[in-house]
Amino acid sequence: MKHKTQLIVALDVDSLKKARRLVTLLYPTVKIFKVGSQLFTAAGPEVIHWIRKKGARVFLDLKFYDIPNSVANAVSQAVSLRVLMLDVHLAGGKEMLRAAVRAANHQARRLRIKKPLVLGVTVLTSEKPTQAVKKTVLQQARLAKQCALEGVIASAQEARRLRANLGARFIIVTPGIRMPGSAGSDQRRIATPSGAAHSGSDYLVVGRPIIKAKEPLKAAQAVIEDLRSNEHIAYEGDSRHKL
Ligand code: C5P
Repeated sequence: MKHKTQLIVALDVDSLKKARRLVTLLYPTVKIFKVGSQLFTAAGPEVIHWIRKKGARVFLDLKFYDIPNSVANAVSQAVSLRVLMLDVHLAGGKEMLRAAVRAANHQARRLRIKKPLVLGVTVLTSEKPTQAVKKTVLQQARLAKQCALEGVIASAQEARRLRANLGARFIIVTPGIRMPGSAGSDQRRIATPSGAAHSGSDYLVVGRPIIKAKEPLKAAQAVIEDLRSNEHIAYEGDSRHKL
């Protein structure tokens, strides 16, 4: 079956009320929402329960980075919130990453739920696209796979290389998405939705271009339209994208 790149909207707002407004507007056109440190600090687990009750899924983007024991404990709590995906910093190293995956497996088994996808954060997409950055991203992604993480967060500019090196099943989540012709603001390694999908990204994370738009639903529909416009162009290295 052909794999479809999916849109995740980043709920980068400062209250439960604003998050609820956006989800109500966007669901079910958008089915996955990202809760990051701003919203989670402001609204706590309640926002996650609310999104799940609505029928949507959650990417809990808290980018854990601490000693292995602390990260393992934080990951267990995230699993208990029944999120679809969560992330840890790959810079935390092997021991921390293995502790995160072990904790996720253990807690999911204990609760008899499906384990969330544990993803690794590579170099932030706000960094410039130098050769050194590209090399680091590949090294970090290899480390992620070695430590049994399901995938990474990386820019579209690295996606093709990651896909070729890490195989079809490795998940690539890509922020830094902008519509054709629009400005990147603080994001440096940007791509259009169809560009990112064509490079092999599985999920696109879009924040401001949708949540700051006058009509967020129209903006989300435009992203999905751009995404689908190029779907006939299969990514050569990925069997899931065969026509
Ligand atoms: O507003 P914008 O579309 O730039 O939002 C991108 C979102 O993706 C933000 O919530 C940001 O925290 C997140 N993100 C990122 N780069 C990463 C990981 C997450 O921009 N490497």
